[in-house]
Amino acid sequence: MQTLPNLTTVDKTANQATFDTTIKRRKTRPVKVGNVMIGGNYPVVVQSMINEDTLDIDGSVAAIRRLHEIGCEIVRVTVPSMAHAKVMADIKKRLIQTYQDVPIVADVHHNGMKIALEVAKHIEKVRINPGLYVFEKPNSNRSEYTKSEFEEIGDKIRETLKPLVISLRDQGKAMRIGVNHGSLAERMLFTYGDTPEGMVESALEFIGICESLDFRNLVISMKASRVPVMLAAYRLMAKRMDDLGMDYPLHLGVTEAGDGEYGRIKSTAGIATLLSDGIGDTIRVSLTEAPEKEIPVCYSILQALGLRKTMVEYVACPSCGRTLFNLEEVLHQVREATKHLTGLDIAVMGCIVNGPGEMADADYGYVGKTPGYISLYRGREEIKKVPEAQGVEELINLIKADGRWVEP
Ligand code: SF4
Repeated sequence: MQTLPNLTTVDKTANQATFDTTIKRRKTRPVKVGNVMIGGNYPVVVQSMINEDTLDIDGSVAAIRRLHEIGCEIVRVTVPSMAHAKVMADIKKRLIQTYQDVPIVADVHHNGMKIALEVAKHIEKVRINPGLYVFEKPNSNRSEYTKSEFEEIGDKIRETLKPLVISLRDQGKAMRIGVNHGSLAERMLFTYGDTPEGMVESALEFIGICESLDFRNLVISMKASRVPVMLAAYRLMAKRMDDLGMDYPLHLGVTEAGDGEYGRIKSTAGIATLLSDGIGDTIRVSLTEAPEKEIPVCYSILQALGLRKTMVEYVACPSCGRTLFNLEEVLHQVREATKHLTGLDIAVMGCIVNGPGEMADADYGYVGKTPGYISLYRGREEIKKVPEAQGVEELINLIKADGRWVEP
């Protein structure tokens, strides 16, 4: 039987020095989307999508701006018709005149080749769904797809995709090959089943066409509404790309995740699991809520995994019978006073018994010392004991004395 090492005998410093906990991201090529880069060594990019009808120019410009101002780096719009595609020229112009240029990705759907060609002139990236781009109505009498039938449709896809690929290639723009588990083409369903393999083959067919035309500004997604399906599809896609020597970045998302707490947990279960394996270069959390609500969730996932630091990292114990103050209230006060100090790690711990040891190398600590008193820490060093009523104020003074304070 395997015996566990006695951790109390391990030299903690030596252990930390050899244990690198940073996530090693899968190596991908950088893909340019306007002034944002996806993949390579660039930070994981945050995306969302507006709900406005793009024919509503004022509404769309305002929605794109709202999202961009709170940190959405690429904004998606939908272009269901030629009129929607054309109006993107005005939306772009208006954004630049009244705000600034924002990288836009346009979603085209059923038989969207002409629409895609038009919108590719106005925005930075086109998203196509391989299951819908050349849409063949499913035939309920069909029992199989012969190889020649399969290839015939493949040729048709190639012919309709070619002008879009050439347009994007020649303009230095990008394409997302966005496979959805719920909308696989019939011939893929017959050949590979309703499986992650079918999703991967669908993407590979489109990648093959792009590569044959020397176009590689590609981002791939494998979304599904069920987390285990989505996980399997992305993992298989990453493996197949590795085997084939492909290095396209991956766009992660769980579709139709719903709303509220469960929608956030479901999205996080899918997205964070892959990111922690090093898979994923851009993310979208799809909530059935205002798109602005998606951005904080994206950033929280990235911050929790140490992939981006956009806010203060708070470490706080759950409190227990040893807690010497109202932890929830104090954490709230500390957060309100320091939440603008992006980059710092601040711990709020209920007692000195376990608190100092469990502060996870925070930059500053606020720890219950004796009833009515707390201790302030800089790293692992106890700096001073102060009455609880002055705790937050003294914490601020300590940060100020260290030159790490900025006014909110
Ligand atoms: S740090 Fe102290 S108060 Fe907080 S949970 Fe641990 S033992 Fe309890």
